[in-house]
Amino acid sequence: VVALSLALALSACSGGRGSEDSADSGDNKGALIGVAMPTKVSERWIADGDAVKADLEKAGYKVDLEYGNNDIPTQVKQVGNMITKGVKVLIIASIDGGSLSDQLEDAHKAGIKVISYDRLLTGSENVDYYVSFDNEKVGVEQGKSLLQGLGVVDKDGKDTGQKGPFNVELFAGSNDDSNAAFFFKGAMSVLQPYIDKKTIVVQSGQTDFNQVTTLRWDPATAKARMQNLIAKSYSGGKTVQGVLSPYDGLSLGIISALTGAGYGQGAKKLPVVTGQDAEVPSLKSILNGQQYSTIFKDTRLLGKQAAVMTNDLLTGKEPEVNDTKTYNNKVKVVPSYLFPPVVVTKDNVQTDVIASGYHTQAELDK
Ligand code: BGC
Repeated sequence: VVALSLALALSACSGGRGSEDSADSGDNKGALIGVAMPTKVSERWIADGDAVKADLEKAGYKVDLEYGNNDIPTQVKQVGNMITKGVKVLIIASIDGGSLSDQLEDAHKAGIKVISYDRLLTGSENVDYYVSFDNEKVGVEQGKSLLQGLGVVDKDGKDTGQKGPFNVELFAGSNDDSNAAFFFKGAMSVLQPYIDKKTIVVQSGQTDFNQVTTLRWDPATAKARMQNLIAKSYSGGKTVQGVLSPYDGLSLGIISALTGAGYGQGAKKLPVVTGQDAEVPSLKSILNGQQYSTIFKDTRLLGKQAAVMTNDLLTGKEPEVNDTKTYNNKVKVVPSYLFPPVVVTKDNVQTDVIASGYHTQAELDK
């Protein structure tokens, strides 16, 4: 559907002007589009940036693509510069969703449309559209796959009757990224009933979002917290059997803390560890039997959709959305286009991630 609508949008763009949008397409042909991405540390954002840029260029636009190095002032400056350069649309994956309000206000005054990309821009009315994945569903899938890995539910999510108890620790993402709360909420909606009936025990007692967040999604921070948890809550023979991790980078940090403490050797099995983004190092870890699962979010779809929305905005069409209720950014509900996430374990790395061409076998073999 997306490919088709992009093709249509592209042909509409190159094949002359429709009557109702002739003024817009005339003014905006070959316009400059600003694309602000958070970091190059995680490979998913590199893929996102590449996808958005390629799709916009295919549609005849010029692109200013910038990476903020996970540093808020850097991203604030980059977005400010884009406005000065005269971009017509801003596509922003923020570092801190609430830090760009002044720039968004300037953008609004200059008639620049704003698309919030993957992460919701918060605290500002000057956000026109949101393109992302169903973030709560991502969390639900993470929670379910943790339960599956533990054997508490089967492949269809049905209770197996396995009562544990299993020791599980919880991690969440950066609390300035609205996605982190959605992921955690989704996961806890699945896990909480099992915590309540003590099939799952969180030995550290840290079950509140604010106790388990990981600023800037930093793998080293997650590793240090896992080391701490092992030292404080798992001395005297107790072991961790599951870890809810919201992102592959954190998962690898967590696994590194665990192997450093002797997990994965002899009888001390590595716990079931979840993830997100289907990044190559985590896919390898999954195939090696270390990380249990990840969530595949096809950033090519997201990039395409952002390009289609941009083209719609610049040719006087109303962008298509499929959710107008969920993403309240504290000031307004932002009309959204959401894609479904796909959970990946060793069973479907090939069929979902490799067969779709998202990653190649060669990357996994490297
Ligand atoms: C994205 C995730 C990603 C995380 C860390 C979130 O906003 O939705 O896909 O794992 O940021 O980069």
